[in-house]
Amino acid sequence: QRKKLVAGNWKMHGSRAMADKLVRDIVEDLPDGTDVLVFPPDVYLAGMVDRYGDRGLGLGAQNLSEHHVQGAFTGEISGAMLYDVGARWVLTGHSERRQYQHESDELVAKKFDSARQAGLTPILCVGETKEEHEAGQAEAVIARQLGAVLEHNSIEVFREAVIAYEPVWAIGTGLTATPEKAQKIHAFIRSQLAKKDVNISLLTRVIYGGSVKPANAAELFAQPDVDGGLIGGAALVASDFLDICAAAR
Ligand code: 13P
Repeated sequence: QRKKLVAGNWKMHGSRAMADKLVRDIVEDLPDGTDVLVFPPDVYLAGMVDRYGDRGLGLGAQNLSEHHVQGAFTGEISGAMLYDVGARWVLTGHSERRQYQHESDELVAKKFDSARQAGLTPILCVGETKEEHEAGQAEAVIARQLGAVLEHNSIEVFREAVIAYEPVWAIGTGLTATPEKAQKIHAFIRSQLAKKDVNISLLTRVIYGGSVKPANAAELFAQPDVDGGLIGGAALVASDFLDICAAAR
């Protein structure tokens, strides 16, 4: 039985005051039996760990440098630094970074490795664009994105690491994948892992992201291969995010 996981990706939203209030409201009402994570902008991360790090909420970063530890890389933040301030999770390969920061499959794989070396648990985001979806290429794209990480890593990494299926056409659009469609892709992702190791494929959590709301969360999370969600917009409203977390039970 895989433990459900619900994560809030705040993207580039918030302020110090808003971040503090949102996390305070979330930790007041954390559900039992579900892993709940929040990914605020880096500048707020350390303060949140200091104030709320002992309340059972997991905290993580939305990105990290592919370079290890320290170096002359202006503007970058290493996994070791994130770990140092108390982050334990990190997103890798979010479609917005693949698109706007031109992160390739290879770069995402490097970041995934850097995260693990720093002691962070990566959430690997995969998913097809609208064009790829319409061309019937979803599974091929996801297999390629997953393959880039598995090429350099043993399947063992997915004992811990989480996979997030985020169809790009569903992000911020209100066009949630139907539960059936999500289930089909999640089962496909698990089958890709099973080719390497069936037992590990049954342990790996595969969460869904893309216009998850309180109204559709329960139905999505009830699918046998949907182990929770990666939430964008609805993670910025404490009551909505908590309703989504409650739907994961
Ligand atoms: P929305 O929930 O706003 O569609 O965003 C999903 C997402 O990209 C989470 O990483």
